[in-house]
Amino acid sequence: MSAGRVYLSTDIEGTAGIVDWGQVLGPSQEYEVGRRLLLAEINSAIDGASEAGATSFLVNDAHATMTNLPPAAIHGEASYLSGRYKPLYMMEGLDGSFDAAFFIAYHGSIGHERAILAHTYNPGAIWEVQLNGTVVGESALNALVALHHGVPVALITGDQATADEARTFAPAIEAVVVKRSVSRFAAESLHPRAACELIRAGARSAVERLGEIGPPQIDLPATLDITFLTADMAEAATAIRGVVRSSTRSVTVKDDEPLALYRTFVTIVALTRGVAG
Ligand SMILES: [Zn+2]
Repeated sequence: MSAGRVYLSTDIEGTAGIVDWGQVLGPSQEYEVGRRLLLAEINSAIDGASEAGATSFLVNDAHATMTNLPPAAIHGEASYLSGRYKPLYMMEGLDGSFDAAFFIAYHGSIGHERAILAHTYNPGAIWEVQLNGTVVGESALNALVALHHGVPVALITGDQATADEARTFAPAIEAVVVKRSVSRFAAESLHPRAACELIRAGARSAVERLGEIGPPQIDLPATLDITFLTADMAEAATAIRGVVRSSTRSVTVKDDEPLALYRTFVTIVALTRGVAG
């Protein structure tokens, strides 16, 4: 199977060489280094997919201000979806016209025992998220949108934790590990050139193996159990239709429509920002 159109959702914490918030949040000299490392990894993914026949790319910048990339420097004449408010957030822009989705520079979930810069959307609000009873990070939550559109999440890049968590919903995913997390703030990274070379090869293989990888495997109806840092956040979340309080700091929500479930989740994230303080 070949892929004409590839969608890239790009974070930054999973980039080789990045280990600290100072490298991922600007403005600073360190952030300027971090965003250049990220750009090179994104371009390597586009290059690899191009080698396997992909011809059209959309890069959805999904980190912080969502304006982390210099548009003209992105390879593949990719369209660039940037800016600070997107209703579908890390998955804005994906639709059924895409043949593959790539998750670039992703990271592990907030509770993972050894994952660089681990968090799940908002580290100031979210303590843990479970999807169908399994602790998940951003990758599985975002995969709900890919499932809705029937698009395979074919490639993920980041540390070992990122790769492991992605295999829970996409066992055959092409997972490129560019660093080994030692703690939440230390990692042994490949040299950026070596990381880019692995990503290029991984992207090529991902596109070649699309049929084998297939759309995300998440049982429907799906249930999200979300635990917050404080009771106030759980209380606020119950203002959203379908969200039920399950304990002092937790809520639960179930839906047979994966896109609706994701929308509920990002609405909860938006709402808790007002309570996180
Ligand atoms: Zn993230």
